[in-house]
Formats: sequence, C-alpha cells, structure tokens
Amino acid sequence: MKRAMVTGGAGFIGGHLVRRLLSEGVEVTVLDDLSSGKRETVPPEARFIQGDVLDPAAVAEAMEDAQACFHLAAVASVVRCNEALIASHMVNVTGMLRMVEAITAAGRPIRLVYASSAAVYGASQDLPLAETAATTPLSPYGADKLGCELHARAAWEVCRVTSTGFRFFNVYGPGQDPTSPYSGVISKFADRLLANQPVTIFGDGLQSRDFVYVADVVEGLVRAARSDETGARVLNICTGSEVTILELARVMAEAFNRPPVINHVDGLSGEVRHSRGDATRLEAALGYRPRTTLAEGLGKLRAAL
Ligand code: NAD
Repeated sequence: MKRAMVTGGAGFIGGHLVRRLLSEGVEVTVLDDLSSGKRETVPPEARFIQGDVLDPAAVAEAMEDAQACFHLAAVASVVRCNEALIASHMVNVTGMLRMVEAITAAGRPIRLVYASSAAVYGASQDLPLAETAATTPLSPYGADKLGCELHARAAWEVCRVTSTGFRFFNVYGPGQDPTSPYSGVISKFADRLLANQPVTIFGDGLQSRDFVYVADVVEGLVRAARSDETGARVLNICTGSEVTILELARVMAEAFNRPPVINHVDGLSGEVRHSRGDATRLEAALGYRPRTTLAEGLGKLRAAL
C-alpha cells in the first residue's frame, strides 16, 4: 500500500486512521465534505480534497494512484438519519456504490475497506453477537449499513471488487466531538465531567454497550487493507465485553477524578438494550483482537483532553 484514499478522513475515526497511515509512510488522499469533520483534523502531509462522496469526479480524483480505499464517510448519527431519511440514505448507500463504481472504473486492484456498524444487528439479542447472528436493524442508519454490506457482496460477485466491511461497536477515544448532540456517550460524559456537570443517563442506565478504543479499530482497518484475502467479508470490531451505562459513569468519574453525579431522564424509544460483540472471526481473519481495556482507553482519552 503506497497510497490510500480515505473518505471521511476529517472525522473522528478517519482522522486517527490518516495519522496512522502517514506514520507508516503511506501516502494519503482524504475526501471529505466537512459536514461533520474538521479541516484541521487532516494533517498537512495528507492530500485533502473537499468534496462529496456522491460526486463521481471527486471520488475518481481522490482514488488516483491508490491501492486501498478506506470508506468511512457517512451520516454517522442514528438521529440525523431518522430526521433526514433520503439525504442520509444517499450518502450512506449511494456513497458506497460510488466507491464500487470508481474502483471498477479504475481497472486495477483497489481494496475496499468500509465502515458498517453493529447497528445492523438491531433487535438481535443473541449475545455475544457473532457475524452469523440475525441482522434486524431498528433504524434507517442500521438498514443503510446493512445495505452497504449487501452491495459489497454483489460488487464481489459482479465486479470482483474485494472488500472488508467492519461492524464497529461503540468506538471511543480522543477527537470525538462532544459538542455534537449526536456523538457517543463517552465523549459526552467526558465533556460534562470536565465541566463539573452531572452526566445524563437515559432510562435506568442498565443498558450495556461494547466500547472499543479507536486505535484498536484503526489496527483492524490497516490489517484488512494489507491482507491478501479476496471476496467480500464482514467482521465485527469489538472487545467482547459489555459495560452498563451506570458502570461507565462510575468508571469515568474515577478516571476523571470527579464525583459521579447522575441526572436520570426518560429512556429513548427504540434503543438497543444490550450490545456485546464476538471477536472470534476478527481474530481468525486478521490475527488480532481489540485489547485496550476501558480503564486504559479512558486514561488515554483523559490524557488527551
Ligand atoms: P464522523 O462523523 O466523525 O466522520 C464521518 C466523516 O464523513 C466526517 O468527517 C464527515 O464530514 C464526512 N462526510 C459525511 N458525509 C460526507 C459526504 N457526503 N461526502 C464526504 N464526506 C462526508 O464519524 P465517525 O465516528 O468517525 O464514523 C466513521 C464511520 O464509522 C462512519 O461510517 C460511521 O457510520 C461508522 N461507525 C462509527 C461508530 C462510532 O462509534 N463512532 C460506530 C459504528 C459505525
């Protein structure tokens, strides 16, 4: 991999990926419309194209000379996808097809590594969630991510585009925007704790999540792009452990050295109750599994703030 293109490279996970690639001497082109990402996230050593993944000319330009396409751009918020159904569907599914189209048009092997989500499991409560579990999304966002996986499979059958789709569980780490009303619970709790404010918990707080540290996610993305495997595979990226939101508030208060003051509000409708992934297939395919513990990850996050 001499050059890689990264869509969504100005975002949270994309920013970490771009810095990792550059640190390994890989040349990077970022395509991002800055709808939720920030220009300053992209290091000056990367080539930056401000553009839309729906624009074929911008995608073709960004893909020039690349051997890998990391497709992370998306409307990444479940709430925003509910509100802007068609617009987010276009970015999240048609955007994926733009990658397939551009890779096919380039006429040379370009590995596609893309972001799916644990949201594809939705109502499935067959814990731990393995890739073989039923996919029953509860949101347009989850349905669109599942659509990306189906198109990736079709792209292999029809165009021989090799891909790896990653079902990210709850990713956290430095650089997640806490000011966005849609961002992850850890960045919100961090923001509140640093401001000496109570953290808000929806419902009883006994809902649980599998929190995976961003560097562990980036490791998987890079390994997938370097693997020789062909076909269209889908892999979880998860720790295999779940933590309740109440427990998270307690652990974070400790990591941030603040008293755990909790403000309970009504639960959210349609929210998944428990989420925990199975990393067995990931480990068999790529020879690693996320190992950063929540305490270690929170320590790194605290140090970066
Ligand atoms: P993010 O919002 O920080 O990054 C997404 C990036 O995509 C942003 O920089 C945004 O400006 C860009 N973008 C959006 N629409 C675009 C368009 N039309 N054209 C070009 N660029 C566009 O989100 P993130 O947390 O870094 O998520 C990255 C990917 O991982 C997304 O596909 C998301 O759905 C997926 N994912 C994230 C999590 C998580 O916990 N953060 C969990 C599951 C899946």
